[in-house]
Amino acid sequence: MTTPTTDAPAVREEVLEAVGLTKHFPVSRRLGSLLTRTRPTVHAVDDVHLTLRRGQVTALVGESGSGKSTVARLLAQLYPRTAGTVRLHGEPVTVRGGRPFRAYARRVQLIFQDPFASLNPVHTVRYHLTRALRIHGNAGRTAADLDAALAKLLERVSLTPAERYLDKFPHELSGGQRQRVAIARALGADPDVLLADEPVSMLDVSIRLGVLNLLRDLKERLHLAILYITHDIASARYFADETLVMYAGRLVEGGDSETVTQSPAHPYTRLLIDSAPDPDRITGDAVAAGRERGDGEPPSLIRPPAGCRFHPRCPAAMPRCTTDLPPRLEVGDRPDHWAACWLYDPATVAAAREVNR
Ligand code: SF4
Repeated sequence: MTTPTTDAPAVREEVLEAVGLTKHFPVSRRLGSLLTRTRPTVHAVDDVHLTLRRGQVTALVGESGSGKSTVARLLAQLYPRTAGTVRLHGEPVTVRGGRPFRAYARRVQLIFQDPFASLNPVHTVRYHLTRALRIHGNAGRTAADLDAALAKLLERVSLTPAERYLDKFPHELSGGQRQRVAIARALGADPDVLLADEPVSMLDVSIRLGVLNLLRDLKERLHLAILYITHDIASARYFADETLVMYAGRLVEGGDSETVTQSPAHPYTRLLIDSAPDPDRITGDAVAAGRERGDGEPPSLIRPPAGCRFHPRCPAAMPRCTTDLPPRLEVGDRPDHWAACWLYDPATVAAAREVNR
C-alpha cells in the first residue's frame, strides 16, 4: 500500500469550472448592414477556461470592457451562454430562473461593485439579511433562530454588535459597511462560491484593504472559492492565489499571482503592470516609453482583430500574430504559468536563441 506523502501540495477541490465559456451579444443593425445576412455581434467573451477551487481566490484582471464582468454574470447564470459549459461540483449546469436558479444561487453568489445600488434604500439591514436567509432556507424555525442567524451573519463580516446595525438603512452606513452588508447577504445563502465583481473599486482607498482582508478571512474560515474581478493587478498580487489576465474577451495569461505579477510574460500583462499609478514614472521619457510598450485603445469587439487580439498594440508583434490565434503556451519558469502569446512558441524561442548565439 502506498503511503501518501505529507509534503505534497494539497490539490484543492474544484467547485466551479468554466470550459470554453463564450458570450456574443447581438447588436441592432445599422441601415448599411440590413442587406447583409450576418447580424453584427459583440464578442464579449470567447473560449474562457477557468476553475475555482475551495479555499482559493482567483483574480480575473483586465481593463474596463475586457469581458470580466460578463464572465461573472455567465458563471452566476444571469446571462445565457453562446457556447461552453459551466460545471458545479463536476456536474454541467444550465439554469434559467425559477427553483433551479434558486438552488444554483444557493451555491454561487454574486457580489456587485456598487454596494449602494445593490441594497434597497427603503429597507433596513435586517430586512435584506432576513430575506436572504428565508429565500435560501437558512432562517431557522423560530424568531430566536432568525435572530441568531442574523447576529452570526453580521459577526462574520465584522459588523458587531449586531444590534447597532440591524435597523439601519443603507444611507446610514459608510461605503465599507454597506459592502460588508452586501457580503453578509451573500453569505446568507451559505454558498460555496463568491463571485466578487470589483468589490472594492467604489470604496475609499482607506477602507479597501479592510474589505479585501474580510474576503480573505472568509475564504480561510468558510473555505469559499472566490472569483475576484478587478482592474487593479496590484491588489490581485496581495489578495489572490491565482491570477488570470483578460484582454478583449480572451484570457491571455494565467498562473500563481506572485509569478504573474512579478514576472509577467504576456506583453499586455506587462502593460497593465506598467500602467499602475506610480508618480516616479510620470516624465516625458516615461510617456514615450509607454508608447513603445503598447499603450493605446482596446479593439472593437464587434470586429475583433484576427490572430492575437492584442497585435495592433503589441510592440513585439510578428507577422503570424496578425493571422494565427495563439494557444495557451507554457512560459517555463513555474508550473502552471502560461501565456497565449507566440513569443512562447518553442519554435520562436529556439529561433531567438539561435540569433543571440
Ligand atoms: Fe504580441 Fe504576438 Fe504575443 Fe500577441 S501573440 S502578445 S501580438 S507577440
